[in-house]
Amino acid sequence: MIRVYEWLESRFEPKFRTKQFNQAFYQEQAPSFDAITTWPKALREAAIKELVFDELKLVTAQESQASRTSKFVFMRANGQLIETVLMRHKGARNTVCVSCMRGCPVKCTFCATGALGFGGHLSADEIVEQVVYCNRLLAKENETVSNVVFMGMGEPMLNLNNVEAAIDMLTNPEQVGLGGRKITLSTSGYVAQLRLLMDKGFRGRLAISLHAPNQQLREELMPVAKVFSLDELMQAMDDFVALTNKRITYEYVMINAVNDRSTHAHQLGKLLENRLSHVNLIPYNKVEGKPFERSSQKSLHRFAAILARYGVAHSIRGTMGDDIAAACGQLAAKVAAQ
Ligand code: SF4
Repeated sequence: MIRVYEWLESRFEPKFRTKQFNQAFYQEQAPSFDAITTWPKALREAAIKELVFDELKLVTAQESQASRTSKFVFMRANGQLIETVLMRHKGARNTVCVSCMRGCPVKCTFCATGALGFGGHLSADEIVEQVVYCNRLLAKENETVSNVVFMGMGEPMLNLNNVEAAIDMLTNPEQVGLGGRKITLSTSGYVAQLRLLMDKGFRGRLAISLHAPNQQLREELMPVAKVFSLDELMQAMDDFVALTNKRITYEYVMINAVNDRSTHAHQLGKLLENRLSHVNLIPYNKVEGKPFERSSQKSLHRFAAILARYGVAHSIRGTMGDDIAAACGQLAAKVAAQ
């Protein structure tokens, strides 16, 4: 809410008005300027006239019948649609998957978001508002957001300034106040930007969208691999683990007869057997217009069993939210087409 801060400053309001705003907006889930009752009435009225409270407007929300997952489509001020997912896990763990771009320029061949093209970077405020919205919702259930993952629309490494500013807001005790370990950044493999982030002191969690266990297949599925090789990526991960001793999550979307064969599982096993890692096997969500299909249950379990032989920690992601088009980019595309 940078604009609120600037606005308060431009009015020569005392510093504590900012603190009052932070507390009401980020921590007490105030739904409007009028609900910031620590501000005098005149200030609230002026804010209502001169500022926008929420940059993102909710267009649609869908609840998964099969899991405690909600998916939201928000409209930006320029009319573009973005997606956010709230996953309620057991034990009061509530994870918000935020978008950091409208669409994505990376164009991984299997991805619904990539197919939307690139519509622009989200600001830090727009990223954080997705979390604030979920916190408002969870407050009604006496819960809060416990984790944030940058795995929605967009490649965080290509919107680094706004993503870093958003992480500052998410971890600032006067704003959202999450611990740094509760933030996971995901990347398809922009090694140079990752290294920059490491040099700047990023010590949160990392998730790598791997999706292929060798250079050739990775290049076929993910154009970024032509710029940053698998070897370079793995070297950067080794350096990150040496710095932080944190386990890296490797996301691996399971696509029938593309990357789910036994040979692929052996290659992945060999790649990760001596690395601090966890592989998340994700059954592919069919995307209209793409030639890819989800791996069978048999292939999934065979693949997992081979990883186990190499001692590679892994899990098979439940197909959370199948019924609400949970693959990133699918719901926004659907709503836009209506
Ligand atoms: S998988 Fe990630 S990086 Fe690749 S196109 Fe989709 S959103 Fe972009």
